[in-house]
Amino acid sequence: MKDCLVRGIGEDGKFRVFAATTTQLVEEARSRHDTWPVASAALGRSLTAGLLLGANLKGEDLITLRVFGDGPLGAIIVTANAAGEVRGYVQEPHTDLEHTAGGKLPVGAAVGKGVLYVSKDLGLKEPFTGSVGLVSGEIGEDIAQYLLISEQTPSAVALGVLIGPDGSVRASGGLVIQLFPGAEKEVLTRLEEGIRQLPPVSNLVARGLTPEEMVAEVVGDLKVRYLERIPLSFKCRCTHERVGDILAAMGKKEIEKILQEQGQAEVRCHFCGRTHIFATPELEAILKTSGQRS
Ligand SMILES: [Zn+2]
Repeated sequence: MKDCLVRGIGEDGKFRVFAATTTQLVEEARSRHDTWPVASAALGRSLTAGLLLGANLKGEDLITLRVFGDGPLGAIIVTANAAGEVRGYVQEPHTDLEHTAGGKLPVGAAVGKGVLYVSKDLGLKEPFTGSVGLVSGEIGEDIAQYLLISEQTPSAVALGVLIGPDGSVRASGGLVIQLFPGAEKEVLTRLEEGIRQLPPVSNLVARGLTPEEMVAEVVGDLKVRYLERIPLSFKCRCTHERVGDILAAMGKKEIEKILQEQGQAEVRCHFCGRTHIFATPELEAILKTSGQRS
């Protein structure tokens, strides 16, 4: 099953749902960044969260999640758009922690205490940024806290990544359910009950459930009308040209130094792990334009 995301409205406007399967794109992130299991899980949950929150954006708008914890993983940064494209990285991909009881990956301990920042670049001068203290570092609870505090939207958030014995990503996905004001108590109670009884999302994805079927596990026979179903992918916006612009912006002195010491520049994009190589002639050309600028 290809990664995809659905967006829907429940019971004629009483609640809304977002659900996604993200196994392939999280596996791609794992292989690009060579993340170890706990880092794969933390990054995978964050990538999924970015896509679920990004499903509310329009056009070219972007959402960026920054998880700044004091744990061994360091920062996790994820950017997603409304077209279902996401990219992201974790600062310390080779983090290794003992599994907790029950074989659960200790994502919360690896992330630690800190702050979650959510920025939305809506094409205005300044991006909108909200932040909350991390509740547990498990990502799902932290996102729910952000939605409640910063966006005043009570939400249930479930995120999960299942890592195989060989370290690859077996299953990944997530869902968000948000109650609208004015929903009857009965709807709330049934959703709460559904969420309480929901097995780990990664298990549902591993069993081959579609996003719609995952939603059905929570909402039971409450009606959901789906508005959209979009394919998802790991996609970075870095291009050779853009990286060249960054090099040029470093200034003449810095480029001359690279030319003298290394002869060429190798610039690795944090977000996708791709290395952009600039050989001597190209660096000299950049040096020229950089010289004109300063
Ligand atoms: Zn990139």
